[in-house]
Amino acid sequence: MKRKIDRLREQRHDKKRLEKLLYEMCPTAPKYEFHAICPFSLPREGVIAFAREGILIVREKNKLEFIDGARVSSLKATQENGCVFLECECDGKPRNLCRSDNRDQKLYTKVMHDCSKLYGRNGDKKGEHGHARHRYERKCPVCGRELKPGEERCPKCSKPLKLVLRLLKLAKGFRIKILITAFMLVLISLTSMLVPYINRILVDDYIKSGSDEISYTGFALVILSMVGVQILLNLLSIVRRYFSASAGANLQTRLATTTFDKTLALSVAKSSKYDSGDLYRRINNEMSDIQWMLTEHVPTYIEHILKLIFVGILLFSYDYKLALIMLVPIPVIVIIFYLIREPTGALWRKQRSKANQSSSILHDIYSGIRVVKSYGTEKREFGRYDKSAKELRDIQVKNEVIWPMIFLPTHFLAGIGEFFILYFVGNRILGGTMTLGEMAQFSAYVSMIYAPLREFAMLPRHITYFGMIVNKMFDLLDEEEEMKDIPDAVSAPLCGEVEIKDLSFGYDESREILHDINLTVKPGEMIGIVGRSGAGKSTLINLLMRLYDPTSGSISVDGRDLREMSQESLRSQIGVVLQENYLFTGSVYENIAYAKPDASYEDVIAASKAAGAHVFVMKLPDAYNTKIGEKGYTLSGGERQRIAIARALLRDPKILILDEATASLDTETERRVQDALANLIRNRTTFAIAHRLSTLRNATRLIVIDKGSIAETGTHDELMEKKGLYYSLVMAQRSMATEQKS
Ligand code: ATP
Repeated sequence: MKRKIDRLREQRHDKKRLEKLLYEMCPTAPKYEFHAICPFSLPREGVIAFAREGILIVREKNKLEFIDGARVSSLKATQENGCVFLECECDGKPRNLCRSDNRDQKLYTKVMHDCSKLYGRNGDKKGEHGHARHRYERKCPVCGRELKPGEERCPKCSKPLKLVLRLLKLAKGFRIKILITAFMLVLISLTSMLVPYINRILVDDYIKSGSDEISYTGFALVILSMVGVQILLNLLSIVRRYFSASAGANLQTRLATTTFDKTLALSVAKSSKYDSGDLYRRINNEMSDIQWMLTEHVPTYIEHILKLIFVGILLFSYDYKLALIMLVPIPVIVIIFYLIREPTGALWRKQRSKANQSSSILHDIYSGIRVVKSYGTEKREFGRYDKSAKELRDIQVKNEVIWPMIFLPTHFLAGIGEFFILYFVGNRILGGTMTLGEMAQFSAYVSMIYAPLREFAMLPRHITYFGMIVNKMFDLLDEEEEMKDIPDAVSAPLCGEVEIKDLSFGYDESREILHDINLTVKPGEMIGIVGRSGAGKSTLINLLMRLYDPTSGSISVDGRDLREMSQESLRSQIGVVLQENYLFTGSVYENIAYAKPDASYEDVIAASKAAGAHVFVMKLPDAYNTKIGEKGYTLSGGERQRIAIARALLRDPKILILDEATASLDTETERRVQDALANLIRNRTTFAIAHRLSTLRNATRLIVIDKGSIAETGTHDELMEKKGLYYSLVMAQRSMATEQKS
């Protein structure tokens, strides 16, 4: 049952299947008209169904719980501890209906919106209360059509032809190459019609005739024209391949760069929705697959279809009966393909998603290889990968078994077609109404139509895969850029005066992290931000860097709202030193100069000296040219930190953000880094977060954040005197330090 529910979760919008599952689990369940049915997974798998008459919950086989609709007055979807809950108000009291993990969050919200209207305290008020007023409205970003419940994307805009047309829009600058490719395909198909025709002349006039008076000139001409046509076909193929390869490569680069550009333009909130392995795969692998598809498979299919059309026209104009016999199996084969396209497509989709899952697991394990090693969980991780690889193998086997099941019947049908043709043609030859040459010609046409069937058997798979990856790409390209600069965004040098007014913010609608924050900071002030873990300190910093926009209220710098400023200009004047600073693969020099690529050599060295990095850098094997590997692992924490400070110094920012910049260092190193930081913060507006409160002694002012709002403001002495939250944090740290000493 678990596997079944797992499978249904993938198609959780398929109400019919869910209904079937509900009755499978509990055949005695009443047959109501259900407005929504959804699976749940915690603490164990089950199904819940909402009808006007009431709510049915099946947690175990044959165990049905029924809540009368008249007792229910509202529905609510909530999130807590990584779970999503569906709750209702039953007889005026809150009641938990079911629980799942966060994967089902969207589904639960939708069910809440769809079904709230069913229940109300009294009949005529049904649909009038709280949640029912929300409309679950999603629109297709391309055509603007409202998506129906259950639709992930607009079916009209996801049709292969529409996708190809959208891709063509992106092919600006090399569409002519695509046109030439198409033209070549027509020429190739037309030219290949000549081969059977020449064959016929050869057989009828020179091989079969048996006459001694064969015209050798004519024979030579026929042979020459045969060779000529073959050479022409090869030349056309070369030209076609050249243009399609060139257009494909151009398109691949365009798609990869456009998608990459889009990922960079997305807000942090949007881009954190995607896992980095998946993005890497989309840009690197799937774009080459699109190219391969467009340069190899699409032209081949088009060529075969064109040949089919040309052969059809030719045959009909010659003898419609023969043409009908020859073409009769084609519609049957097309119908077979049409019917199997969905199930084979679904299997193929599954295989791809399993393959992606496997590679995500690998990516995950390799990214966290240090944790895996230090916890000695190699076997467990191997098991995780092994399980996923075996699931992938099983789907692959299923897919490969299905393929001959499709191919063989179509091949059989084609065989029947050929048999009829043979019979028909044989009769005509015996009756003297057809020559041997004509027979040779039509046999060649028959093989021209039926030989490519093998490739056509792969068509559903190719269409599905193509649709899948192109849709995924367009989904990403259609993502709304919420943090886009306004058209006349201002780029101006900053003085560093910051004003935060009535600011509230939540990462999602369900939870507010910061509220009612008001703060004015003069240029050059150093603001220490303190508070308990999870209070919202880093969130405030994220808002200052405009990685997110406030839900309400505003942040302005020099009297201008951040949303009116060019993000590039803003960020170029903000320097950041975090607890863990990412160092790119490259030399130490390149890593410092990353902040200002046009900085002079002297400036880079000066910044390094001021950050206290110069001495240790000179001791490295190649000094500033030493390559620091992936994530700069070869450097110690303190050394990495000083490189990051040098980077920030080089940028010469007006606003500086230090988020636990010295938290991971020992006291000795911290002192050295603090000296470097003292150089860095001079004459800059600085926001510094630190749990080690002693490091914020130099702050002009401290703000204490508690539960998302500013609880206290003042200097260290003022706050100590106040004996509030800051005082208790300092005292807690002091007593811990004393305990550690003793
Ligand atoms: P710490 O001192 O431990 O770093 P903090 O005061 O800096 O904590 P924040 O990192 O601002 O706290 O987090 C505040 C709350 O916001 C936390 O409950 C955290 O779970 C939540 N949060 C942080 N980042 C995100 C995010 N990207 N999406 C959703 N919630 C988040």
